[in-house]
Amino acid sequence: MNRRTFIKAASVPLGATALGLEPTAFAAATQTTPRSSVVVVGGGAFGAWTALHLREMGHAVTLVDAYGPGNSRSTSGDETRQIRCGYGDRELYSRSALRAFTAWRARQEEFGVPLMMETGRLQLVPDWTPSLRATQATLTKIGVKTEAMTQDDMRKRYPQMNPDGMGVGLLEPGACVLRAKQAILAVAAAFKRKGGTVTIARATPGRGEGRQLLDLATANGDRVAAQQFVFACGPWLPRLFPALLGTKIQVPGRDVLYFGTPAGDTRFNFPNFPNYSEDRCYGFANIDERGFKVCATSGATSFDPDTDERIVTPHEVRRARAYLALRFPALKDQPVIETRVCQLENTADEHFIIDRHPDYDNVLIAGGGSGHGFKHGPVIGEYIAKRALGEPTDAAFDHMVRLAR
Ligand SMILES: Cc1cc2nc3c(=O)[nH]c(=O)nc-3n(C[C@H](O)[C@H](O)[C@H](O)COP(=O)(O)OP(=O)(O)OC[C@H]3O[C@@H](n4cnc5c(N)ncnc54)[C@H](O)[C@@H]3O)c2cc1C
Repeated sequence: MNRRTFIKAASVPLGATALGLEPTAFAAATQTTPRSSVVVVGGGAFGAWTALHLREMGHAVTLVDAYGPGNSRSTSGDETRQIRCGYGDRELYSRSALRAFTAWRARQEEFGVPLMMETGRLQLVPDWTPSLRATQATLTKIGVKTEAMTQDDMRKRYPQMNPDGMGVGLLEPGACVLRAKQAILAVAAAFKRKGGTVTIARATPGRGEGRQLLDLATANGDRVAAQQFVFACGPWLPRLFPALLGTKIQVPGRDVLYFGTPAGDTRFNFPNFPNYSEDRCYGFANIDERGFKVCATSGATSFDPDTDERIVTPHEVRRARAYLALRFPALKDQPVIETRVCQLENTADEHFIIDRHPDYDNVLIAGGGSGHGFKHGPVIGEYIAKRALGEPTDAAFDHMVRLAR
C-alpha cells in the first residue's frame, strides 16, 4: 500500500461522515469499531499526546506532521525540558503540572523508556517577590515540597555557585528534567502500537461546508477527511491561521548552549546540582554528559521554524560565558560542547490557546506553549482530546485558555 492509498484508507469517506455513519475503513484496520475519526495536525507535545489519548478513547486517529513527531525543528524536539509545579499564583497550571508528574511516571513505566530525572529546581531572586511568595504558598497548598534558602544557605549548599546578588533561593526538590525528544518518539511509537496512523505531510485546512471542515489538503495534493480536526502546530500556528493567530502568537528564537565541565569534576553533573533559573538565564546540570546547559531568557525576536538555520550566534556565546563568569566561575573558560537553537510560541499573557476555530465547529486549535507547555503534555493531551470531542472539561481551565481573552 503506498502512502496515498493509505491516507485514503485511513480517512473517513466524506459521504459516510455526512450521513453520520461509522468509518468502516478504520474498523477493518483496527479490528474494532472506532467511535469517530479525528485528524491531529502536529506531532509535538500538544499534538502527539492528544493523538494518543484520542486513540486510547477508541477513536480512529491520524497524526499528520510535516517532518515527523519529535523532529528537530519542532519546539518539542529539543533533548530536555523541565517539569516543576511552581507557577506564581497561576494555580491551575500548578495543579496541571502536579497531575502531569503522576502521568509522566506512569507513562515512562508503560513505554519502558527512562524519561524523568529528579534534579530539583532552584529559583534565584535578589529578594522575595510577590510572585515567589505566591509560588511558595500555592505549592504548600497543593502539597508540593519547597525549601527557601538565604544567600548564606546557598553558599554552603552549592559551593560551585556564586550567589552574589541573589538573596533568596527557592528550591522545588521534586522538579525533574524530561528527555523531551525521546518522550515524543515514545508517545508516537505507543500511538502507532495502539492502532494510530502517523502520516508525514504538511497539511492545511481543506474544503468546508457550512460550519464543518470536511478535509485537510496536503502539500502534495492528497485530501484527508475526518469528523474532527485538531491543529496543534506550535510555532507554525500563526502562519497557518494568520488572521486568527498572526498577532496572538509570537515566535522568537532561543540559543541553548552546553558548556563542558572540567575533566574529572562532577560538581556540575546531575544529580550534584539542580536546574537553576533567574531573571536573565536558566539551565540544567550536565545530564547524559552533554554539558552544563545555559539559556538566556531573551534573544532573537523572530524565528522561522521552517527555514532559519539552527546555528548559535557568537553574541549569545559571549552572553552565556559572561553569565558563567559571574555565577559559575569554574566553567567560564570551558568550551561550548553542544548547541541547540529552538523557538518559542509565546502568547502575550503566557496562557495556552486551546479553543474552537470561530468558523468551524469541528476544528480545535491548541498551542501557545509559551516556554512552559512541554511538561503538561500527558495532561493537556487528554484535555485537548476531550475538548475536540465536546466532552466536559474544567470550565475554569477552558476560560483561561480561550482564544478571545
Ligand atoms: C528554549 C526552550 C525551553 C523550554 N523549556 C521548557 C521547559 O523546561 N518545560 C516546559 O514544560 N516547556 C518548555 N518549553 C516549551 C515547550 O517546549 C513547548 O511549549 C512545547 O514543546 C510546544 O509543543 P507544541 O506541540 O505546541 O509545538 P511543537 O513541538 O513545535 O510541535 C508542532 C508540530 O507541528 C508540526 N507542524 C506544523 N505545521 C504543520 C502543518 N501545516 N502540517 C503538518 N505538521 C505541521 C511540526 O512539524 C511540529 O512537529 C521550552 C521551549 C523552548 C523554546
